[in-house]
Amino acid sequence: MELLALEQVTKRYAADRPPAVDGLTLTVQQGEILTFLGPSGCGKTTTLRLIAGFEVPDSGRVVIRSETMAGPGRWVPPEERGIGVVFQDYALFPHLTVAENVGFGLHHLGRSARRERVRQILELVGLETFASRYPHALSGGQQQRVALARALAPAPALILLDEPFSNLDADLRAQMREEVERILRHTGTTAIFVTHDQEEAFTLADRVGVLNQGRLEQLDTPETVYHHPATRFVAEFVGATDFLPGAVTAEGIATELGVFPNPEGRDIGERVKVMLRPDDITFVPRPDGQGVIVRRYFRGSENLYCLRLPSGHLVHSSQGSATVYARGTRVRAEANLIHVVTFSQGA
Ligand code: ADP
Ligand code: MG
Repeated sequence: MELLALEQVTKRYAADRPPAVDGLTLTVQQGEILTFLGPSGCGKTTTLRLIAGFEVPDSGRVVIRSETMAGPGRWVPPEERGIGVVFQDYALFPHLTVAENVGFGLHHLGRSARRERVRQILELVGLETFASRYPHALSGGQQQRVALARALAPAPALILLDEPFSNLDADLRAQMREEVERILRHTGTTAIFVTHDQEEAFTLADRVGVLNQGRLEQLDTPETVYHHPATRFVAEFVGATDFLPGAVTAEGIATELGVFPNPEGRDIGERVKVMLRPDDITFVPRPDGQGVIVRRYFRGSENLYCLRLPSGHLVHSSQGSATVYARGTRVRAEANLIHVVTFSQGA
């Protein structure tokens, strides 16, 4: 079932500036977890604010469960949209206890029903023993959980989370990510996460939407976004990538690293750039190899090698962290492309 639809939603903050959100169209299914990924300023927060009802679109429609929330002649205020929101800074009420924070949106319930719901939700996020603490006496991760509990307490149809883990340490971030996902899946809550972290977007999401300058460049599964990026921007934003020039021939796409299949059906004679990920390229040291190692980046679990080809083009190859070769080593490089993705030369 379709829970949310955006139809050509546009929002411009100033007449002399490009729109912050530009003709955004997408649908989100009930129970789905979506992430919006994109660089700072691409319109992620504005998109969430438009969905929540904190901003009014200049044009287009926001639809929840087939009911128009914002659109020509129609406006439903945020508190009537059934949406929970978790912001980057948590925005807990400092003068209220954990239980009071979580119970804040539950005034429609009677006293004992409210107490029971707060208990349930605190148990769900593992904070049942912290009910009477104040926010300042909690760790970052605990505050994050309270914010999530508060957003989940009214059982919203949809929850929006704007870079919810960005104030946490790397360790805690990974742990909270898993925990939050477990809670969302357990409660069947539809969620949209905003992040500029590709790994986070990929681990959490059923589908990832990549935004650039207010426009949705691609919305698809993490695997498809990574292996079949729709645009050069997506290709470069969702992981390391190199582009090698190629010429389309009857045999396939001829490049310095061999001839690749032409599944996209490019015309013979066309000049293209072939996308190469570091995991597509392997090499072995060989005195007569065509490549030279120009740099090694130690990444902990892997070594990323930068290789120079005879034309001067650089490509990257990821290897296990135990294989260490010196700069200047001659190598024979090979590209094994499972997914051949090409872009037009000018793109
Ligand atoms: P993101 O969350 O992806 O970093 P935002 O949605 O916050 O991006 O911002 C998108 C664009 O809109 C940016 O150019 C930003 O400067 C601008 N913007 C955001 N909020 C406002 C505002 N309240 N007034 C004017 N411009 C804004
Ligand atoms: Mg933002």
